[in-house]
Amino acid sequence: MPELPEVEIIRRDFEREIVGRKIKSVEADGMRSIRRHHNRKQFANRLVGKKFSGVERRGKYLLCRLDDGDVLVVHLGMSGQLVRAKSAREATKKHTHVVITLTQGGQLRFVDPRTFGEMFVTELDTVEKEVAELAHLGIDPLDEPMSWEIFGRMFTAHRQKLKALLMDQRLIAGIGNIYSDEILFAAGLRGDRTGESLSAQEVRRLYRGMIEVLQDAVKHRGSTLADEQYVDLFGQAGGYQAFHQVYAREGEACRRCRKVIVRHRYGNRSTFSCPACQV
Ligand SMILES: [Zn+2]
Repeated sequence: MPELPEVEIIRRDFEREIVGRKIKSVEADGMRSIRRHHNRKQFANRLVGKKFSGVERRGKYLLCRLDDGDVLVVHLGMSGQLVRAKSAREATKKHTHVVITLTQGGQLRFVDPRTFGEMFVTELDTVEKEVAELAHLGIDPLDEPMSWEIFGRMFTAHRQKLKALLMDQRLIAGIGNIYSDEILFAAGLRGDRTGESLSAQEVRRLYRGMIEVLQDAVKHRGSTLADEQYVDLFGQAGGYQAFHQVYAREGEACRRCRKVIVRHRYGNRSTFSCPACQV
């Protein structure tokens, strides 16, 4: 599932490639990806003839601004891809659900095999009403620099486990299952430690680990796992998975201490850690 680094890369690509372009036509193959709209025509009517005027990221959501004040909200869900085709003749991938054709040529395509992702158009002011998560979104660790003291107060006030706190969108926006595991390894902390158990030194390590992992992940253009679902706007896979220390490395040797990386259950997902490097 795309997390903050992947969505941030798509935002940057979108800003360079798509902002300033005008929408000529819109096609959707059904209602699944545009389920907040009444019908396909109503979705298309809110886009056709408008120009993209900017793009921002809130947590894992992309807000593509239109020149009339509306905004096209894109959430990639589990498996969504937002890709730019240079021309309409370029082969269409399977599971392409929405195609936005631009007047200067080229298309923006929304591909989503598992269909948990979505797109919808709304007024900027109503985005938070539409998506409850955005109304209560926590601090963005890349966009809103905070001191490690503030970060520490946020964490040490909670009895929940660190893994859950890192993934709580109301505290910190944009972190999911992959990056929480990598951040915890970088900090040398177990995910089942509680927030209130952290010492000042551990808070600093966790804070530094979070910033370093997220910045590195953006630098290497995100993580594309074995399922190859995440790609950037140009359809290219990310490179950060080669730098993962624990995530999806069960049974392999820890790069720091050579002990074997283990997998645990976490809700209905898996979490990975080194039994020696994380305390
Ligand atoms: Zn280790």
